[in-house]
Amino acid sequence: MTQHIGIIGAGMGGLSAAQSLRASGVRVTLFEKSRGLGGRMSTRRVDGLQFDHGAQYFTAKGAAFKEQVATWRSSGAAAPWFDDSYVGAPGMTAPSRALGEGLDLVTARTATKLVRTNGLWRVEDAEGPIEAPGNGAFNALIVAVPAPQAQTLLVSAGADLPGVSEARYAPCWALMLAFETSHEHVSSRIKLNEGAISWIARDSDKPGRGTACETWVIHASPAWTREYIKLTPDEARAALLERFAAITGIEAQPVYASAHRWLYALVEQAAGAPCLWNSDMQIGACGDWCIGPRVEAAFESGRAMAEMILSQGQNA
Ligand SMILES: Cc1cc2nc3c(=O)[nH]c(=O)nc-3n(C[C@H](O)[C@H](O)[C@H](O)COP(=O)(O)OP(=O)(O)OC[C@H]3O[C@@H](n4cnc5c(N)ncnc54)[C@H](O)[C@@H]3O)c2cc1C
Repeated sequence: MTQHIGIIGAGMGGLSAAQSLRASGVRVTLFEKSRGLGGRMSTRRVDGLQFDHGAQYFTAKGAAFKEQVATWRSSGAAAPWFDDSYVGAPGMTAPSRALGEGLDLVTARTATKLVRTNGLWRVEDAEGPIEAPGNGAFNALIVAVPAPQAQTLLVSAGADLPGVSEARYAPCWALMLAFETSHEHVSSRIKLNEGAISWIARDSDKPGRGTACETWVIHASPAWTREYIKLTPDEARAALLERFAAITGIEAQPVYASAHRWLYALVEQAAGAPCLWNSDMQIGACGDWCIGPRVEAAFESGRAMAEMILSQGQNA
């Protein structure tokens, strides 16, 4: 039976794997490059404002994720938004923070190298081995980061996981706006199938948001983002603000405006397996890119990864 597993990436995929393993008595340590948890389920907090500038909402189709969402709802970490969709509350990171409770987590450290010596794994960053519980003695590793970044780490490990290079993502420029006045006459959610912008949402309308301003999150379409991928954030902000005003009729100047570029936003082509595993080297990979462009896919992939590792323990 594997005793201690290292997991790179504390987004929904890595956290889901971690909690499943822990529930079966396996010790885990997570390494996360950001200061907070949640990856693309993120909340930007600035000047007393907050924006869900990555994932907008999530749905639950499968039994396991429905059960997980029910747990978040009863603890207040998630709330229904519209139709059968949910959001984290008070921000999109809340479900990930709830999943991270009680886990050994090392944040603000970027894994750059994975090394296996005498059958045991160690995780390093640019300065060398990262100080963390179990590091250097991991029986197995899970790489739970976007596929292109996973590929780089796997190369550093000398490990091959066919399927990682199959995954493709659409990039996304996200615009965050705050206004002192409200514009209730404009619809809270606008989905567009063509043009520069694909999604507009009044973020401050989501449940549990206590912000004083009216806040909006705007996502550029994959085609527009690809065409303008090299803009600076200031240039992208100006271009998207103009289009937002044309679509909504809101001409007021925002009190806050900024743009963020997601290089790997939504999975366009998945690897086609719930997770990937190399039993010779005891290393695997999981994340939304295994299944599809959804929070639930990341959760399911993490679960599948944990089950794969647990099943080999049972078969040993
Ligand atoms: C703009 C946008 C809109 C979206 N809208 C929706 C939506 O409405 N509904 C929906 O269901 N989904 C949506 N998604 C997709 C959803 O956010 C993802 O499917 C899901 O969050 C992916 O989780 P993950 O764990 O697979 O990956 P991630 O969330 O990317 O997590 C990977 C983690 O690994 C960390 N990491 C990366 N490299 C390293 C390293 N070298 N060392 C340590 N840590 C590392 C990252 O910081 C990150 O925390 C959207 C995503 C974006 C960006």
